[in-house]
Amino acid sequence: MIYFDNAATTRPLQLALKEYEDISATLFANPSSGHLYGISAHRKLEQVRDEMLRLLKLEKTHDLIFTSGASESNNLALKGAARQYANRGKRLITNMGEHSSVLNPLRALKEEGFEVVFLPITSEGRVDPETLKGAMDKSTTLVSVMSVNNEVGSYNDLKAIAEVVHSYPKAYLLVDATQSMGKDDIDLSMADLISFSAHKFGGTKGVGALIYRKNIKLHPEHDGGGQEHGFRSGTVNLAGNAAMAVALRDSLEHLKENREMASALKKTVADGLADVDEVVVNSPEDSSPYILNISLLHKKSSVIIEALGERGIYVSSHTACDARRSEPSSVLLAMGLSQERAENSIRISFSHDNTIQDGVEFVAALKQVIEEVKDR
Ligand code: PMP
Repeated sequence: MIYFDNAATTRPLQLALKEYEDISATLFANPSSGHLYGISAHRKLEQVRDEMLRLLKLEKTHDLIFTSGASESNNLALKGAARQYANRGKRLITNMGEHSSVLNPLRALKEEGFEVVFLPITSEGRVDPETLKGAMDKSTTLVSVMSVNNEVGSYNDLKAIAEVVHSYPKAYLLVDATQSMGKDDIDLSMADLISFSAHKFGGTKGVGALIYRKNIKLHPEHDGGGQEHGFRSGTVNLAGNAAMAVALRDSLEHLKENREMASALKKTVADGLADVDEVVVNSPEDSSPYILNISLLHKKSSVIIEALGERGIYVSSHTACDARRSEPSSVLLAMGLSQERAENSIRISFSHDNTIQDGVEFVAALKQVIEEVKDR
């Protein structure tokens, strides 16, 4: 198998699986239980929370709650902050490059009466801070911008964006850091809210977190026992959260060599495909080393992806969440690319877990499949 769909999910790290198993076996008490065993579980939960914040150098300024992943974190951050601070203003700003777990909650908030602005993105898949500046006003309470685009790998200039947002004292910045967590050394201290999932960096699925600046309050999405600072009721997944911290620590400890491996792989694949006339690259030059987005000219990417799959090679059309819908990529369309390019994109996403040989074999297989598949 050649697995190049690491932006959709990664193979869990052995270390993380071991932690999950150990905690499940030895510390299965409910951290909310009042007895000594429950208190031990609670202590471990707080240690994991502190470690996550420390690893991200956010322990002084921010707090963290555990969630089921980035989709839930984005929903809670957007709906929770919009509703909590509705008396300050009702303008919310995002952009067309964001994941559906940002765009759809904002569409729902628009139905509720919020004024929602969907900014365009540049041809490189970024938010232009000047465009954002033009859209901000005193009634803006929340701006949502991702760190790394999940389809093409573009980086947003978070520093410049945060400066624009914070020139309005009542506005908060949500950064969906799902594709950069454990992969990029990005200073996130300027973000007021940060969302991510563990399974994108070697943790287990259905686990994630929402980090928020200490003074922020969120209107809870659902009512219950008031766990997670009252913002997210429900018994926490202690084993999954502990495994996430182990995966984050390991990813950050090996960040440099992991990135070097991803960069080398991306170069192997990009260079290998450079002489194929049917292939155009959609990712900008300085995009994440973990993501290479290409389009096929005159070929249906769905057919190519299926043919690759038959050979045990796994890539995505665009985001895994939307891949089964046969719509063109909204991100590529927002970048101004043609309908054909947006319909026929392939996202190849790497991990340190892959080998250079995987890259070489992928290039050979893709070339062969392109030859075999008839023009549309
Ligand atoms: N945001 C981004 C940028 C993502 O790439 C993803 C996963 N495709 C999500 C949010 C949602 O993550 P999850 O499915 O784990 O909730």
